[in-house]
Amino acid sequence: MQNLKRANNLQSAILETSFPALGTGNNIQIFAYEDRVSAGEALKRSEERVRALHDRLSVFQPESELSLLNASAGCGPVPVGEDAMHLLTQSKHYSALSHGAFSITTRALSSLWRLHARCGTVPSRAEVEQAVALVSDEDILLDETAKTAELARFGQSLDLGSIAKGYAADEVLRILKEGGVTDTMINLGGTVATLGRVRRVGVQHPDRITGIAMGRISVENACVVTSGDYERYYEVDGVRYHHILDPKTGYPARSGLRSVTLIGQSALELDALSTVVFVLGAEQGMPLLAQAGVDAVLVTDKLDVFCTEGLRENFELF
Ligand code: ADP
Ligand code: MG
Repeated sequence: MQNLKRANNLQSAILETSFPALGTGNNIQIFAYEDRVSAGEALKRSEERVRALHDRLSVFQPESELSLLNASAGCGPVPVGEDAMHLLTQSKHYSALSHGAFSITTRALSSLWRLHARCGTVPSRAEVEQAVALVSDEDILLDETAKTAELARFGQSLDLGSIAKGYAADEVLRILKEGGVTDTMINLGGTVATLGRVRRVGVQHPDRITGIAMGRISVENACVVTSGDYERYYEVDGVRYHHILDPKTGYPARSGLRSVTLIGQSALELDALSTVVFVLGAEQGMPLLAQAGVDAVLVTDKLDVFCTEGLRENFELF
């Protein structure tokens, strides 16, 4: 997902920050506020909040709560803070809702694929099966009272890559609103949250360079989140291996979709559901979106584009 700079930046931001965190580039723009000082402070606080989430939740930070949780798999509970507890609870919810299509315990599997990506090879079936056996979000044991989390089995490992950016975007929006910001565009590595005027958000063309859209959505006071097979992938013998895995097979999901773009009110929910629908495909995924009241633009393997009824007036295909 790319915000169309040309369309959105006719008026340049009054306050703005760009910074790396959560494994991606982030940009927050403020266009209107009640009070300049509070808006400036809120912007600073929101950046600090995202950086703090990164420090606590990234599995690439050896001392993060999640790294300690992974390191203690099979060895009993470890203390976790409120953010981790919230995201682990939500992840278990979406895992149950999707019958395991969404599983944050795919990390051992992701690591296997990442190692092979580095060598340009494909893991053997035995390697995949071994890693699949460690996937089960039911094995994430949470104790709200003791404020601890535990991975039940030795070798299990989890990551919040499919949900953390959404939560962070919701948090930034909350902080900015509290600071009296009335018009903003938040873009955390393609996870978008907007407030204020109607904005145009591009739907990335799966086969073109980043920034080239195949259509655009008009959104007002809404979040937009995409999961696609073009963001991180490698190819072997003409086959594309991307980063969203089907926990049932252990292979990159092949559900007939190239990308899933969702529009709604909670970026966390959209982040989880975009991964769910990408894994499950349109037929199984759409009922879940209808149930959640979330609108969608789906791009298929054949580059056919579908959008939900709610977007008829607000989606334009180029
Ligand atoms: P992106 O991070 O590119 O926006 P997603 O939100 O779909 O895309 O999250 C993909 C990330 O989530 C992967 O990089 C991996 O860390 C993790 N992941 C992969 N497959 C799954 C899955 N089936 N369920 C939950 N998380 C997954
Ligand atoms: Mg996601």
